[in-house]
Amino acid sequence: MKRLITVVAAVALAACGSGAPAVHETKVIAHRGYWKADGSAQNSLASLRKAAEIGCYGTEFDVHLTADGVAIVNHDDRIGGAAIWEDVYDTFSGHLLSNGEVIPTLRSYLEEGAKYPELKLIIEIKSAPDQGHESRSVTAVMDIVEELGVSEQVEYIAFSYHICREIVARDPAAKVAYLNGDKTPDELKADGIAGLDYNVELARNNPALFADARSAGISTNIWTVNEEADMREFISYGVDFITTDQPELALELAKAAGGEKR
Ligand code: MG
Repeated sequence: MKRLITVVAAVALAACGSGAPAVHETKVIAHRGYWKADGSAQNSLASLRKAAEIGCYGTEFDVHLTADGVAIVNHDDRIGGAAIWEDVYDTFSGHLLSNGEVIPTLRSYLEEGAKYPELKLIIEIKSAPDQGHESRSVTAVMDIVEELGVSEQVEYIAFSYHICREIVARDPAAKVAYLNGDKTPDELKADGIAGLDYNVELARNNPALFADARSAGISTNIWTVNEEADMREFISYGVDFITTDQPELALELAKAAGGEKR
């Protein structure tokens, strides 16, 4: 019996080595931080801390630039009817999140994140009405990242291809993933973009996406994966990252799947 088990194990190992994708555990990114935890809120400092506490790979958050050049952390491009790109920081600085926190600036968010060096800080630089404002956003964000010395801890995502290219132009080593779904892995590779970060439906309707990305050396991330069945599906494809509002569940499933493969 023991010998039989040894043979089965050897066959299984050989199968893993025959062109199968490299064994790796899917990493989990908390979408807008772990905002469903007690005392948390989307894009809050609490959501960053909660994501770190449960062992996420990273916390994702959204950044807009005010008219006077302050990068603030918020999902929508308006707060209380005022557009962030056309109003000054003072307009927004007193805004309270649902957990009572004052809206974070990028600086305060990154300073908090630096206390958790194991946690990646996934900055989504939001699109703006014009490319000039997008370019200013990239400059403002990267100035702060470099000043605080957190470049190694930071990764970037954006729907705007202009923003992705501007980040890479300033720092070719920056990890950037494109969100909008209309570029092939080869196109991203040619432009120095390290990863694709596409939505569930798009990924499901493009079964070759993962193999194409793997052969191009492009990392894969899927958003926003909140259902258990979807998590299991994408983990089984060997996706590198899952971005989710349910990070505890995703961590559990990713860990279990990683354990099975090993
Ligand atoms: Mg986002």
